[in-house]
Amino acid sequence: AASKETLGFKTEVKQLLHLMIHSLYSNKEIFLRELVSNASDACDKLRFQALSNNDLYESEADLKVDITFDKEAKTLTIADNGIGMTRDDVVNHLGTIAKSGTAEFLSQLSGDQQKDSQLIGQFGVGFYSAFIVADKVVVETRRAGESADQGTRWESEGEGEFSLESIEKAGRGTQITLHLKEGEDEFADSFRLQNLIKKYSDHIAIPVFVQQDANEEDSEGEESSAPEAVNQAQAMWTRAKSDLSEDEYKEFYKHVSHDWNEPLTWMHNTVEGKLNYTSLLYIPAQAPFDMWNREASRGVKLYVQRVFIMDDAEQFLPAYLRFVKGVLDSNDLSLNVSREILQQDKQVDSLRSALVKRVLDTLEKMAKKDPEKYQTFWSQFGEVLKEGPAEDFANREKVAGLFRFATTTSEGNEQTVSLADYIARMREGQKKIYYITGENHEAVAASPHLEYFRKKGIEVLLLTDRVDEWMVGHLSDFDGKAFQDVTKGELDLDELADDSEKEEQKQLEESHKALIERLETALKDEVKEVRVSSRLSDSPACLVVGQYDMGGHMRRLMEAAGQ
Ligand code: ADP
Ligand code: MG
Repeated sequence: AASKETLGFKTEVKQLLHLMIHSLYSNKEIFLRELVSNASDACDKLRFQALSNNDLYESEADLKVDITFDKEAKTLTIADNGIGMTRDDVVNHLGTIAKSGTAEFLSQLSGDQQKDSQLIGQFGVGFYSAFIVADKVVVETRRAGESADQGTRWESEGEGEFSLESIEKAGRGTQITLHLKEGEDEFADSFRLQNLIKKYSDHIAIPVFVQQDANEEDSEGEESSAPEAVNQAQAMWTRAKSDLSEDEYKEFYKHVSHDWNEPLTWMHNTVEGKLNYTSLLYIPAQAPFDMWNREASRGVKLYVQRVFIMDDAEQFLPAYLRFVKGVLDSNDLSLNVSREILQQDKQVDSLRSALVKRVLDTLEKMAKKDPEKYQTFWSQFGEVLKEGPAEDFANREKVAGLFRFATTTSEGNEQTVSLADYIARMREGQKKIYYITGENHEAVAASPHLEYFRKKGIEVLLLTDRVDEWMVGHLSDFDGKAFQDVTKGELDLDELADDSEKEEQKQLEESHKALIERLETALKDEVKEVRVSSRLSDSPACLVVGQYDMGGHMRRLMEAAGQ
């Protein structure tokens, strides 16, 4: 049944292909890394499924990637014996981009190649990168466990469409043939390919073989022994730290995270004792485009004794650390764990606490040793971290210690002041951490509520992120000092006033008694009470909400949401 059909790419694939070919050309060799990364993922998936169905190995249990080429025909082929794809899989994975949020992502593109290539990097366009160097790509694949006549051939020139055809494929897995563009024959070369594999794919856990050049084989003159893998072919996180270079860590990050940018930092630890595991966790340098998408994947890649179990194991990290990527390899969990089992497993809680502590400690250290780098982190992920106090009560003080704020003392709207900085600068007699919330920096910085604090030289946190009011609500205090909204209730400013000011205040209250009474009667339906206040120094009057009432910013948000 050789039913051949031609289908159109989804619009977003067309746009992305076009953009990628142009903006990534200067870095074209990375296509090989992407294809080998996919081959490795496919082998991981096969090994996992074979745990419960050994027949999937079809008497070929040695997983591997083979890279061959034909100089005359100018083709390059990457073949794996992993899980393979059915016809439906092919249509779904190689004809669309499944990630939600793709349309918003594309609308952010500017047409400026450099900026766009960075954005594309975060998006991770994997398979399609083959079209940077190929003008035709042929994928032949068969799903493990299906019969040989269930193969599929996918073919495309990377323009608007692709064709599909049923084929016979004896071996399971996927074979991708690139018809190299004019001038790209450098990739049909054994030496070049071997170097690229060493550079980008050394960390891949299964062996990668590269065909020898014809003349190399001749010159050896004798029957060559079994070919050797070009890469280390060992799960990277099982290797000693001292044996691993920065570049290896960075390449591994790109493989696990599907992010093309370099990570900001990483943590590689092996723990033996009550818990037995190895973790290799990364903090990205850039927030992914879908960080605020609830369905976006999060969590680590889980392995049990070197065997891949699942992607996005979100049980091991709380949502406020959803930007962390990496691998957890446990020696304690059983090979047949499932998401359901993980939800009830007590060990998972211990592992989770250990990983959280590791991430928070690393951030603390970074903040101390390399404030500039920490500032990069904060600008990308600060808003996510602010979900911490609400989600992780036990660690709320530790998480809050990592927060940075814009204040009435700091310059501009950059968030650079820590709570420790704030406390160190507190005035004598000051017991609270004062803050004001609002829509944007200009608005809060100009608020009349700040007049008194400015006059007295008391610093006030200027909170303008969406999560802020909610965050302070859950945090409530830090280092024993309560948070106080300067627009709410009594401010305890008395303790900060000197004696002459207290005297002045008393006299004012006396002398304005009549006025206050008149105002209270006139505004009876509008306000709860009228008071003489030391809050203001230039403005004549301001509105204040009760200590336990909703803040103005929150109230406007609720109103906007129709509540
Ligand atoms: P990603 O790897 O980030 O998912 P890719 O564009 O690299 O994105 O690949 C898209 C999808 O195509 C993969 O998720 C996988 O389902 C499928 N795929 C790609 N290459 C292979 C392969 N060699 N074997 C099996 N499936 C593959
Ligand atoms: Mg990929």
